[in-house]
Parts: sequence; structure tokens; C-alpha cells
Amino acid sequence: MSAPAHITASASWRSDFPALHQKVHGRPLVYLDSAASAQQPASVIDAIARYEREDHANVHRGVHTLSHRATEAYEGSRDRIRDFINARSRSEVVLTSGTTESINLVAQSFCRPRLQAGDKIVITHLEHHANIVPWQLVCEQTGAELVVAPINDRGEVELEQMLELIDDRTFLIAVAHVANALGTVCPISRIVEHAGARGIPVLVDGAQGVPHLEVDVQALGCDFYAFSGHKMFGPTGTGVLWGREELLDAMPPWQGGGDMILEVSFDKTTYNELPYKFEAGTPNIAGVVGLGAAIEYLQAIGMQNIADYEHDLHTYMVSELKKVDGIRLFGEARDQASVQSFLLADIHSHDLGTILDHQGVAIRTGHHCAMPVMQRFGISGTARASLAFYNNRDDVDRLTAALGKASEIFA
Ligand code: PMP
Repeated sequence: MSAPAHITASASWRSDFPALHQKVHGRPLVYLDSAASAQQPASVIDAIARYEREDHANVHRGVHTLSHRATEAYEGSRDRIRDFINARSRSEVVLTSGTTESINLVAQSFCRPRLQAGDKIVITHLEHHANIVPWQLVCEQTGAELVVAPINDRGEVELEQMLELIDDRTFLIAVAHVANALGTVCPISRIVEHAGARGIPVLVDGAQGVPHLEVDVQALGCDFYAFSGHKMFGPTGTGVLWGREELLDAMPPWQGGGDMILEVSFDKTTYNELPYKFEAGTPNIAGVVGLGAAIEYLQAIGMQNIADYEHDLHTYMVSELKKVDGIRLFGEARDQASVQSFLLADIHSHDLGTILDHQGVAIRTGHHCAMPVMQRFGISGTARASLAFYNNRDDVDRLTAALGKASEIFA
């Protein structure tokens, strides 16, 4: 029986990524660290190089040809992003340096002017530091309180308990779409439904959602959605804050400078329209051009094909990891995407990562910027293998073989 089309397609996808075709410590590279930063296809690298060679100029207000071309490419990427996440309008697509900046923008521009002492921001125990610390800062600034919904031993949000924490003092709910340390897919629609009925806005940290799942912000029903270019096969230093237009409209600018103004005088400055009101200073133009190319690449494959393929591969990875003697898995949610955390016997995760690297297998080790998750499980860190659509079963087999070797070394 031949393999399903989406399984065989992976070989051609893989060939599009130059960085995957190299040896590390004399062994062909197995890259299992895409949750930290995903590799870029040749089309992204080429789009950036073409822009740098031919079109490099500053965007907006330029009358010369190169500036027109740069503006067209930059704004073209915004249109692609709008289409990719099904935003209602391009005004809702704010270009940032990444998820971290997007979340800080909401904390400082949406929350800080409105939050009152005693108001609550509700998050979960699964969050990345980028979806914890900006809320802690704004709580310190305003006297609001950060409330944390618990997770269970499988690494799932305890939804009923979370919903009970939401009351008439809740100002905002911020939750990961997919948790980076454990891979848990969070029940966004249930949370949004509950919050929406009470008029409470929901921010979704989509850093690990957008690379693996089809995201339609209108269907999700949330109010803000934040993500990063480098986790979705684009360049570092790029990202997006999507927000509902009426909310973004009512928010003051976060940073002042060029591009975010209409008119400046010492008496009064008027601000630019959306989304430029939130884009002060010269942006990462080459990066945004690359992000547009990454989205074009993803759309050609189809996010549903990616999700299906990765689901099969993740199931295979978990079943193979479970066969390794002495392994302990962290994160066994019923709905999990692309990531598996584990520890092997009593080997420190960093030692494990180093041994695997010497066999050409790249994984991430440590707390994954999710220290509270580690505290929940009483550990200091994990080894984490994270998948993208360019991985295959051979990569998983190399991972488990390398773990066998690590066991021998530490026996
Ligand atoms: N949230 C999650 C769930 C993440 O995985 C990451 C990156 N590890 C971030 C936020 C922060 O993303 P960035 O560093 O690109 O701003």
C-alpha cells in the first residue's frame, strides 16, 4: 500500500530547506528544535536577498522607484498576513518584532490606561514567560492582580476551574494557542465563548499555533492574536499583533517616532491611522518581505496538510519515545501539537542535549522560558523535541537511537 499523499510530500518539502542538508559532528543533521526557531525555505532566503540586492530603501512617503518597490513588498506582506489569518482588514495587522513585543504592546497600550486596582488578568500555568511577565509588569503598574488557571498532570488546562476564576473583575484573559514546553493545544473556543458572553477580551499567544494549525482569527473569536515570524519559517525580528479594529482604534500609541504620526508640532501631535499608529520607526523591511514569502510557501502546502502530517508524525514520535528504557514524558494532553518534552533516567537535560548534538540531533533543553511549568512538575528542565513538516520518521528513529546511546554512556 502506498503512503498517503501528505506523508510522501514531506520529502520534497524537506529539500526546500538548505540548512537541513548539512552534517553536524560528521552526521547528517536532524533538526528537532523548530519550536525555538524554525528553518527557512530557499524561497524566503531568496526573497530577502532579492530585496536587499535590488529594492532596498526606506518604506512609505518615498517618491523614488526603490522606495515604491520596498513599500509595495512590505505592504504586500501585510496583505498576505491578513489573508493567512483571515483578518477582516489590513488595518488590523500590526507588524512587530515578534510575539513578545505584540503582547507587551497590548499590556501597555490596551491594559495599562484602563486597568484599576483589584481588576484581574487571567492566564494559565502553561504560559511562556512572554505571556506572563508583561502582565506582571502591568499589574505592578496598576495594582491589578494576575490570576493563574491550573493544569493537570497531563499538561492540560483545568478548564472548569479556569472558567470559575473568571468573574466581573476580570479585565482580560491571555492564553497560549499551543503551549511551547508541553505542546498542549488549549481550548480557545471554550474560553472565548465563556469570556465573550461576559464582554471580556481574550488575547491568544499564537507563537506555537500559527506554524502548525490553520488559524482563522474571526472563527477563533478572540480579540488579539500574537505571533512570530521565525517560528513559522520566516526571519527573526518579525511578528504580528492582530487585534479587532475597534479595540486597536481605541488604544493610544505605544511608542512614539516616525511613521506613527500624521502631523507633529510642539503644541500637538496627531497620530496616524491603523495599523501605522503602532509602527513607530523604520521597520524590519527585509524581514517582513521574508515573512510574506514564508506565508506564500505555507499557503502553497496548505496548513491543513501540515497539521495532518505533523499529527501522524507526532503520534509516531510519542510511541517510539515510550519504547525507550527509562524515559519520562512531560505533556500528554489529549490534544497536543508537534512538541514532546521528556527526561531520560536521571541524566540532566543539558547533558542529554549535548550527547544528542554530538550525534547530529538538535533538540532544546532547559526550562523553555516556561519556568512555572517546570515548577508544576517539580523539575528544573526537560529535553524537548519539536517537529515541523520537514521532519520525517527517520528523524524520529535517529532521535531514539541517540537516546539509546546516551543511556549506554550514562549506564
Ligand atoms: N510564546 C510562546 C508560546 C513561544 O513559544 C515563544 C517563543 N519561544 C514566545 C511566546 C516568544 O516569542 P518571541 O521570542 O519570538 O517573541
